Amino acid sequence: MKSNIVNSIDEVPSPSFVCEERLLKKNLELLKKVQDESEVKILLALKGFALWSTFDLCKQYLYGCCASGLHEAILAKEEFGKEVHTYSPAFKEEEIDEIIDISNHLVFNSFNQLNKFREKARGRTSIGLRVNPEYSSVEVDLYNPCGVYSRLGITSVNFDKDNLEGIDGLHFHALCEQNVDALEGALSNFEEKFGEFLPQMKWVNFGGGHHITREDYDVDGLIKLLKDFKNRYPHLKVYLEPGEAVGWQTGYLVATVLDIIENQMSIAILDTSAEAHMPDTLAMPYRPDVRNSDLANIKKYTYRLAGNTCLAGDIIGDYSFDEPLKTGDKIILEDMIHYTMVKTSTFNGIKLPSIVIKNSQDCYQIVNNFGYNAYKSRL
Ligand SMILES: *Cc1c(COP(=O)(O)O)cnc(C)c1O
Repeated sequence: MKSNIVNSIDEVPSPSFVCEERLLKKNLELLKKVQDESEVKILLALKGFALWSTFDLCKQYLYGCCASGLHEAILAKEEFGKEVHTYSPAFKEEEIDEIIDISNHLVFNSFNQLNKFREKARGRTSIGLRVNPEYSSVEVDLYNPCGVYSRLGITSVNFDKDNLEGIDGLHFHALCEQNVDALEGALSNFEEKFGEFLPQMKWVNFGGGHHITREDYDVDGLIKLLKDFKNRYPHLKVYLEPGEAVGWQTGYLVATVLDIIENQMSIAILDTSAEAHMPDTLAMPYRPDVRNSDLANIKKYTYRLAGNTCLAGDIIGDYSFDEPLKTGDKIILEDMIHYTMVKTSTFNGIKLPSIVIKNSQDCYQIVNNFGYNAYKSRL
């Protein structure tokens, strides 16, 4: 695609997601180190990071992608190449052939799905089953794959050990933003409940949720855990599929102050939206960092930062600044690359943020702009 390149952040459209290639590369280098030293294969989970204009870079480091259905699988094949591993809570009859053709690994979520599609898939892709290790350590229910009544993965009591013909691998995904201790717990449950089937498998997939690129992550501990596992099961190929760890702290959302109004406090209306552009701030919920700001009432001037939709709760949070904000000021919301641009909507007709890559020459490449058609075409 022919990109529009500008030299300064002031010339970037507002709002924009700005991904910094240098920071992405730093994450990829660390993931590659884990991959090389522990001889596992790391896949990029498109659910968390699907900024395909960076895939030429990503594919120099990672082994492939994991997809959650047809569209992610096609994107992986078209833009990343290499291996495509596809898991879905349930596959559809009309999509399964195309998914099988694209996917190196296909992971079923139930024996019903396996029975339905096994004959079609056999010989065309490597078949696996997702199991639920019932290790529940994620505190927010919305993000806990092993919560009560979870639909994600087969529990050991529901595991039909006499129906494993044609199964090459087992997959579990039990973590979210966690360190090695959580993986250790999940893995220990997994081995306890499903270890007896591992001798007959060719691969295991430890899912995502490994926060490998976070500053306090115990990378050496992870490498050791993976090596120990490989020593116990030398015949198994091991896959990890992080999403968040790839896009973690690789950029921001830049927005502009449109107006400042008063109602017992000062409220800055931005040309972005918590609901439409950063839905996790409301869903989790969490408070994003804003550059050069602090908590409310710490610095001299406090504002509520709010979105430009008509949803009453479209509020990012309260922040204080050294200088008063004014119309036209740029606001930088930090760490808005993973799980944000994959989740945006055109709710209320609000314009989607442009997609910008700050390249290694410190230029800003505007790779995508969205207008009225992005809104109209989905309705
Ligand atoms: C979400 C998900 C991932 C990626 O998780 P991160 O928290 O982004 O690392 C990997 N595998 C599966 C099956 C998932 O659902």
